[in-house]
Amino acid sequence: MNDTHDITIIGAGLVGSLLALGLAKKGYQVTVFESRPDLRKADISAGKSINLALANRGIRALKQQGIFDKVELLLIPMEGRMVHIPHEDAHFQPYGLHKDDVIYSVSRGALNALLLDEAQKYPNVSIYFEHRVSSIDLGDKTIKFVDQDKAVSFSQIIGTDGANSVLRDAIIDKHQTSTNEPILSIEKLEHGYKELCILPNSADQHKLLVNALHIWPREDFMLIALPNLDGSFTLTLFMANQGNTSFDSLTSADDVLKFFKINFPDVYREIDNLTVDFFNNPTGSLATVRCQQWHDEGTALLLGDAAHAIVPFHGQGMNCGFEDCFDLLNLLPPAQSSSLDWQDIFEQTQALRKPNANAIADMAVENYIEMRSSVAKASFQRQKAIAAK
Ligand code: FAD
Repeated sequence: MNDTHDITIIGAGLVGSLLALGLAKKGYQVTVFESRPDLRKADISAGKSINLALANRGIRALKQQGIFDKVELLLIPMEGRMVHIPHEDAHFQPYGLHKDDVIYSVSRGALNALLLDEAQKYPNVSIYFEHRVSSIDLGDKTIKFVDQDKAVSFSQIIGTDGANSVLRDAIIDKHQTSTNEPILSIEKLEHGYKELCILPNSADQHKLLVNALHIWPREDFMLIALPNLDGSFTLTLFMANQGNTSFDSLTSADDVLKFFKINFPDVYREIDNLTVDFFNNPTGSLATVRCQQWHDEGTALLLGDAAHAIVPFHGQGMNCGFEDCFDLLNLLPPAQSSSLDWQDIFEQTQALRKPNANAIADMAVENYIEMRSSVAKASFQRQKAIAAK
């Protein structure tokens, strides 16, 4: 591989597969290395952000590739948030005044599979699953893989390999000196998350209002639920990892049942396999990753979570990654073009995207307080006043 029209992508997640499609449509020769098996043939998503909120930023990028009509078949509109407060009726807060002011719930696996299908319709796309990149040498432009002797060369490389990006490590190794400001900052949130499930009722229908994002704000922690097409809801509990009320403090099935009964009395009976899922599903960690250097001299570029992982409280991580693709693909001429200045394009991409990524990263952290507390502040104050009487 030594041609300016060859692009290697690391990671065939949501952003990598959309990018592969966009580059293929522009005529580039695209090679993708993905560490996991092909998700269309293996069930590998249990307990890890099963569904996501898709918003306008992401939709614009899907429309740019002409595939939104296909994606639409996977979507459930959420017209507002349904807020559940103890001892009060649930109340609905619409996202806007117009019927189009909605966000959409979508299955991560189904969306990723569709994007892979669309990318692989192009003969100039090759995807290698079960190829975990172990290191990247930006000097001699080679990639090495875990458990494989072969090294592969590349011309241009784009890292869409998520929050623990290997390409980011290589860029940092090259650009971080003892004298410059730290290029990478990782702020771990002291709260984690756990996914649970409400199965459909006996008529295969949703047990909660379907066209809403449900929130049970509890000041220090919260539960949310997003609908799935099969009539189920995926629930996510966000809570401190350690402390009095935390994942660490719930050590037995009794602890878990009691915790849900006290804190989520309206819904805990509807949660299926509560204690089994609670202990079987992983407790996910959350962090904000800020990287000052997204590219290397027209050779390498980071996009998506590899460049800017954010906490999920604005539902914008994937959307922002899709917007990265939108902007890069707008800047990039067709492969046949003679005027291809990679360095300029990579610099412009970082200049366009980094301020946006930083802004949404801050807003996402702030929105955790909004969702778990501010959204129900008046109710909490009223209840505390009653309790104090
Ligand atoms: P990833 O999805 O992490 O994909 C990276 C890919 O690279 C993976 O396929 C991985 O296997 C592969 N890979 C990693 N390392 C290597 C390697 N060394 N070699 C080869 N391949 C490799 N975003 C939203 O927009 N809306 C939401 O509602 C939302 N909700 C969320 C809820 C939770 C609980 C979480 C944790 C996140 C949520 N997000 C949401 C964020 C969203 O999941 C991410 O922003 C999005 O997945 C980023 O996509 P990506 O392709 O950049 O990275």
